[in-house]
Amino acid sequence: MRFYSTRNKKNEVSGAEAVCRGISEEGGLFVPVTFPAMSRERIESFCGAPYHQTAATVVGAFLPELSDLPAYTQAAYEKFDGDPAPVVKLDDNLFVTELWHGPTHAFKDVALTLLPHLLCGSKKQLGNSRITLIPVATSGDTGKAALEGFRDVDGTGVAVFYPDGGVSDLQRLQMITAEGDNVFVSAIRGNFDDAQTAVKKAFTDPELIDALAKEGIELSSANSINFGRLAPQITYYFTTYADLLDGGQIEYGEQVDFCVPSGNFGDILAGYYARKMGLPIGRLVCASNRNNVLCDFINTGVYDARREFYKTSSPSMDILISSNLERLLFDISGCDDERTAARMRDLKEKGVYSLTPQEREAMQTVFAAGYATEDDVANTTAHYFDEYGYIMDPHTAVAAYVAERFASDRPMVILSTASPHKFAAAVLGFIGEKPTGNETKDLVRLEDATALEVPESLISLPKKAKLYTGSIAREQITDAIRTFGQKLTKK
Ligand SMILES: *Cc1c(COP(=O)(O)O)cnc(C)c1O
Repeated sequence: MRFYSTRNKKNEVSGAEAVCRGISEEGGLFVPVTFPAMSRERIESFCGAPYHQTAATVVGAFLPELSDLPAYTQAAYEKFDGDPAPVVKLDDNLFVTELWHGPTHAFKDVALTLLPHLLCGSKKQLGNSRITLIPVATSGDTGKAALEGFRDVDGTGVAVFYPDGGVSDLQRLQMITAEGDNVFVSAIRGNFDDAQTAVKKAFTDPELIDALAKEGIELSSANSINFGRLAPQITYYFTTYADLLDGGQIEYGEQVDFCVPSGNFGDILAGYYARKMGLPIGRLVCASNRNNVLCDFINTGVYDARREFYKTSSPSMDILISSNLERLLFDISGCDDERTAARMRDLKEKGVYSLTPQEREAMQTVFAAGYATEDDVANTTAHYFDEYGYIMDPHTAVAAYVAERFASDRPMVILSTASPHKFAAAVLGFIGEKPTGNETKDLVRLEDATALEVPESLISLPKKAKLYTGSIAREQITDAIRTFGQKLTKK
């Protein structure tokens, strides 16, 4: 299967190359030239099949050159506590797919347990024996999931940079206790945007790239701009549909709606791709928090990032520049690379761009959008706990609130993206319990209040050795990456 860049269609590569490179050199994102179709027989065959098997079929439709894919998906999804995407029924037409039963208890695990295998398999296929160094800027969840996914994977290294004081205690503990010979973690003095900008700059720093190349090292990305991160996320739309079929909730062909808590637009875009492959999805509902730039875009056709940034209880959705939206823009423009490149230039230079009325209408036939305020999130968390005895994290609560606004006679599935324990203090407050001021004690208190068992890996965190306690200035990031690179070559 061939891929090309959203900003230059002449730049065409194989799937393996798209995974290794992460991003195209002119800044565009790689997308499939054609979409594979899944027949009714295929989709029905997913009923009752193990998750890793469905994943091998779905991901393999995009990356057929990876002949060991079934072994990769098996190794990746063995790391989950049971089914990687169990569907919970809350009400007649209301379901939740829980995506947080992986090693770090966030939905990022679904992709980041598999990405290292996809990367190593792609390198093997291309005869690439260089070391791949992956710098990651994180607001919390991606960092730990990347550290866990790439830990001790031969020929790779991960350097994670998080904003000093900008992540929760629990998220920080998860990262600074990371084990593995090929990982590095540091706080960056500044906020998430500073960390992200510094990491992006490193990607295009010719001096750094040159110095690393001399050591046999190349840079790649574990962010959802990499198609290798997106492809694994398409799987759970198929498994959810198959589970509903299998449970007799729907007949084949009946449409199902999904409501997705969105930030960088990777999760919901995977649903759009599943729909393009033939999965009977009705509406994809994009749920935003108070940073509702995506919601406004879907409702008006104007993307305007010139607005205030708010810190909310759902930090992984606190984002104003949503990088994966570029893939949707490309698709609804009829695969117009020049128009997509121009819009991305407008976003960078003016902070705003617009769709044509025709494009907006085309988008609105599939997508709908709403947003939740902090009060809505608190009330929704309490309501679901009272009404269904179901406890959810603040990101999921954003989606649950918005899903109610778009209820119809079709089944609605809410994608649940994080374990409530990762945001214990906020969740306790929402259900009328008092947080203790200590995140580990809050874990226990949340378990007592809700009977939702705390995962052992979270409760044991404070006892683990703190390996990375330093912080650096933004300007020092290239030096940190270079020093880490040298360490990797000496392994
Ligand atoms: C990353 C993340 C999201 C947003 O997903 P996108 O693919 O960036 O839209 C939502 N919830 C949680 C908990 C996340 O970690």
